[in-house]
Amino acid sequence: MTGILEPDDVFAMPGIKHAAPKRGFPEHEIFPQVAYQIVHDELLLDGVARMNLATFCTTWVDDQARRLMNECLDKNIVDKDEYPQTAELEQRCVHMLADLWNSPDAMGTLGTSTTGSSEAAMLGGLAAKFRWRKRGGTGIPNFVCGPVQVCWEKFARYFDVEIRQIPLRGDRYTMNPDDIAAHCDENTIMVVPTFGQTFTGLFEDVEGISKALDELQATTGLDIPIHVDAASGGFLAPFCAPEICWDFRLPRVKSINASGHKTGLAPLGAGWAIWRTAEDLPEELIFNVDYLGGNMPTFNLNFSRPGGQAITQYYDFIRLGRVGYRNVQNAIYTAGQHLAKGLTESGPFELIHDSDPKHGITAVSWKVYGKSKLNLYDLSDRLRTRGWLIAAYPLPADREDVTIMRAVLRHGFTHDMADLLIADLNRSMKVLDKHPLKTSLTREDAGGFTHNANALVSTADLQAKVKAQLDGHAKSSSKKAKPAKSKSGKK
Ligand SMILES: *Cc1c(COP(=O)(O)O)cnc(C)c1O
Repeated sequence: MTGILEPDDVFAMPGIKHAAPKRGFPEHEIFPQVAYQIVHDELLLDGVARMNLATFCTTWVDDQARRLMNECLDKNIVDKDEYPQTAELEQRCVHMLADLWNSPDAMGTLGTSTTGSSEAAMLGGLAAKFRWRKRGGTGIPNFVCGPVQVCWEKFARYFDVEIRQIPLRGDRYTMNPDDIAAHCDENTIMVVPTFGQTFTGLFEDVEGISKALDELQATTGLDIPIHVDAASGGFLAPFCAPEICWDFRLPRVKSINASGHKTGLAPLGAGWAIWRTAEDLPEELIFNVDYLGGNMPTFNLNFSRPGGQAITQYYDFIRLGRVGYRNVQNAIYTAGQHLAKGLTESGPFELIHDSDPKHGITAVSWKVYGKSKLNLYDLSDRLRTRGWLIAAYPLPADREDVTIMRAVLRHGFTHDMADLLIADLNRSMKVLDKHPLKTSLTREDAGGFTHNANALVSTADLQAKVKAQLDGHAKSSSKKAKPAKSKSGKK
């Protein structure tokens, strides 16, 4: 100490007068307020979460939810013996969801919280694989689906199950029940309809798919179960379109996954996997762990996980109930319909999904009609200058010829924001009309916008490398399904 006071302004303190370490493990320590300021300020470059209409995930929670998350920062959900009430709240959520989704044994069935739908989907898929094996399945297991979220491509690769994605045809943007039988055989462990499709927001016809499988069983004897990927739809239809029969009311539906952190309104890191009855979850997937004290069954891919998400989900359930969820979700659907109307009035847009609760999730998706020269990648880029993050991407096979744009609307999206967005859309189209780009942007140019543009290794390069390796691997092993392409715009 020299007797001269150390600077107490954070921007004059040691550690902030040169750039933060970026490569190699840092050698020296700095004050926490300096480190905080550096990290906080770097994140100013991130988009504004509530204007990110490409994500499906929660971007607004109330103060009480924030408080609970904060209070539970130190709670590991796996320590069920040490935190018995956290375990209890998780179990209550499981049974509440089984009830919401009409399980014939809501209080007796099994389920678990997860980090999201991806983990829940893997668990549902693994259970189907184990049940198939128990039934005497011996070949290479496969599952049948339409255009799916990337978690199912991961499930297929990570767990060596063949994915049979039925290509789109005609003007139908969801899996067509008529196409299913031709893709099924004795090694089909499940059919996976998506209840709230990633690409368009549309619901797939779970009841129609179930009927098609009934017919398949009547003619061939094959009894193929359904796992519903209800990542978003699972917290929408039960409140806003209860007449849609997509859940455990259909006996063929053996398991369901949903993202608590999407339409479930919980903070990021909450997902659910629920089985129709306890018999539908094979025992082999359940591990009894006794080194935490007590004897606690777990069936997760993770061990340690934060407990706050399941706790806050429980808060959401008792705070809102069916009536509250219906009010919140209907308000979002209505704001979405307002956006849809504004879109058709302002541009050469044809709606694919108009935020109608009978047809899909709280989202609007659209394409450009007719001979309009408007390029949706240009539009997406232009909207970015005002802070709106809205993805543009091609539809999956065999309709890659169609480029679409999708806005996913969530808790906190209002009528007013829809009006602001429409005004910016109009402004953007005017600019593009007046100053058309010499060469329009492409999907590749737009790629940096959902994924880290500033990463040292670009995600696209890395993905290409991994894909090349896997392709080589697949060629050298026996006949394998060609790895499905990963699409952008998936969240
Ligand atoms: C978001 C989503 C997933 C993945 O869920 P996460 O909760 O992000 O892991 C899977 N399927 C569908 C249909 C989705 O929308």
